[in-house]
Amino acid sequence: MAVQQQINKFIQGIGASTGIIIGRAYLVERFKVRLPQKRIEPKEAEKEVERFVRAIEESRNQLTEIKEKILDPQVRKHSFILDVHLMILNDEMLLQDTIDTIRKKQVNAEWALDLTLEKLDTAFKAIEDEYLRERRSDLHYVSARIFRNLLGKKEDDITKIKGKVIVVAHDLSPADTLQINLKHVAGFITDIGGKVSHTAILSRSLGIPAVVGLEVATSLINGGDLLIIDGETGEVVINPSEEVSQSFLERKRRAKYFEREILKYASLPAETRDGVRVRLQANIEMVEEIPSAKMHGAEGIGLYRTETLYLNRKDLPTEEEHFQIYRRLAENIHPATGTIRTLDIGGDKFLSGYSENNEMNPALGLRAIRFSMRETDIFKTQLKGILRASAYGKLRILLPMISGIEEIRQARAILEEVKKGLVKARIPFDQEIKIGAMIEIPSASVTADLLAREADFFSIGTNDLIQYALAVDRINEHVSYLYEPLHPAVLRIIRGVVETAHQAGIPIAICGEMAAEPTYALVLLGLGLDEFSMTPVSIPKMKKVFRMSRFEESRSLVQQLLQFATAAEIECFVRSWMAKRFPEDFIECYPEEIKA
Ligand code: PEP
Ligand code: MG
Repeated sequence: MAVQQQINKFIQGIGASTGIIIGRAYLVERFKVRLPQKRIEPKEAEKEVERFVRAIEESRNQLTEIKEKILDPQVRKHSFILDVHLMILNDEMLLQDTIDTIRKKQVNAEWALDLTLEKLDTAFKAIEDEYLRERRSDLHYVSARIFRNLLGKKEDDITKIKGKVIVVAHDLSPADTLQINLKHVAGFITDIGGKVSHTAILSRSLGIPAVVGLEVATSLINGGDLLIIDGETGEVVINPSEEVSQSFLERKRRAKYFEREILKYASLPAETRDGVRVRLQANIEMVEEIPSAKMHGAEGIGLYRTETLYLNRKDLPTEEEHFQIYRRLAENIHPATGTIRTLDIGGDKFLSGYSENNEMNPALGLRAIRFSMRETDIFKTQLKGILRASAYGKLRILLPMISGIEEIRQARAILEEVKKGLVKARIPFDQEIKIGAMIEIPSASVTADLLAREADFFSIGTNDLIQYALAVDRINEHVSYLYEPLHPAVLRIIRGVVETAHQAGIPIAICGEMAAEPTYALVLLGLGLDEFSMTPVSIPKMKKVFRMSRFEESRSLVQQLLQFATAAEIECFVRSWMAKRFPEDFIECYPEEIKA
C-alpha cells in the first residue's frame, strides 16, 4: 500500500534491454531495499499509525504461524528464538516511540520506525553483556519483517513470483535473475547497475525489457504500483495516467513496426557497398537461444557464456552434462561455428561454495581463467565436454580474462592432457580445435603480439576492457558517466590489437556490448574488426548499417576520430556524422517517419 501514491512520476535510468511494457511492480528485497522516507500531512498521521499497527500485527501472525508449523521436536527446541522475536514485537518502546514519532514529526511509518531502530540500536550497542548485545541481530530480523509488511511485500521468496510482474530490486545477482520463474517476469528494474552489468546482459539475451541504474526505484515504488518501463530510453513511469500510457503504447507500436522492418536484413550478408564482408555472430547464455540467433541472421555463435550452467545449483555440472549441451550447440549451429567460453565465474558472478565472494576487489580477484587454473578439475571437466562435443560440429574454445601468455600456455597444457585421455579412451574429438583469448585486460592488449603466438584467434571483450582501461566499475551507476566506449584510450587499444592480430594472421572479433550499438558500427568497421558478436536481436540493425556503408568511409571516419582528445568530442562527432549519414535511423531512437 502506497503512503502517498506517486502518480505519473518519471524516473530516469539506463536502458538495459529494449522493449516497452506496462505492468505491476513486484518488489524484491535483494541486497538493500531503500526505505521510502516521506513527510506526511497532519491529517494523514492516524492512517500511518494504523498502517504501522497493522504491519506489527501481520508480523506477529506470521511468526506465530511459523512457530506452529514446526512439528519436529528437535527443531521445536530452538523455537524460543521466535518467542524472542515476538517479544520484540511487543516491546513498548518500539511500538510507542514509533507511533509518537509519526504523530510528532509527521513522517511516514517506515521513516519513524527507522528512527526508533536507530535509538534502540545505540542502546543495544552499549549493553555490556555480550549475549544481550548480540540480540541486536534479532532486532534487525524483526524490523526487516515489519518493513516488509509495511511495504506490502509479504513473502520475499524470489522463486514464488506469480502473475506477470515487473521485478523491482535494489540489485539482482545473475543467480537471482535465473532463480526467478521467468514466465512471470515482464520486466526488470534495479537501483544499481549499468548497461553491461550481468542483469542487463541476461535480460537482453532473454528478451525481457530492463532498466537499471535508477538509484531510487526501490524507494519510490511500492509493491503493486502500475509501471511503464522503456528499456530503450531508460524511462520508468510510476502509476502513469491514461494519456501517458497511451503515448507509450503508441511508441511501442512504432518500435514493433521498426523491429519487423529490420528483420528483413537478417538473412542478408553483412557486406559493405565496396565489397568488404564481416561476420556477425551471436552472444548467447543458453543453447535455447540458438533458434533466435539464427532467426536474427547470426553466422555462428561468437560467445557462449557458460556461467549459467554452473549457477543456482549446489553441485557442479558433470562432464556428460557439458557434453550434451555443447553437442546441441555444435549440431544446431552447424555448418557455422560455436565459440564456447570457458567458465568466467567470479567478479559479480559467484559460484556457491567456491567463489571468494568476500573479496575486496572482486573484479580484480580470483575470476575466470584464474579460477580455472586453481580449480583445474572443474576446468578439465568442462574441456572434456567441449572436446567430446567437437566431434559433432565446429566448435572453438575461448579463454576469458587472459592477462598474459602463461595463462594460455597453462590452459593449452591442460587441454593437451585432456586430449591424450580422450585418445586413450578412443573417444573422437576435433584434434585441431582452435583456442582463442579474450582481450579484455589492458596487459593482454599491449602484449597482443606475444599472445598471438599462442592463440588461434582473439575476441575483444569491451565490457571488461573499458572497465579495466578506464578504471570504471562496469556495474557502478555512480561512475557510469565515465564508462565511455569511445574514449580515445579505448579506440587506440582496439586499433592496436586489431593491427597486431592482422599482422599475426589471426582473426579478430569483438564480443562486448559495444559491438551491438549501431552508432558505433562504422567506427568498429573502420578499426578493422573481422567478426562482431552480439545479442541476437541487434544483428539485423548492424547488418543494415554495414550494408548501407562503404568500408573506405569508415576508415576515414576513424582517421578523423583519432585526432580528437576527448571521448565527448568523439561521441559528439560520431553521433552527428551518423545522423547526417543515416538520417532515417539515427535521428532518435524511434524515427518519426516510421509510421505503422
Ligand atoms: C566482455 O567483457 O566484453 C565480455 C564479452 O564478457 P562478459 O560481459 O561476460 O564479462
Ligand atoms: Mg568479460
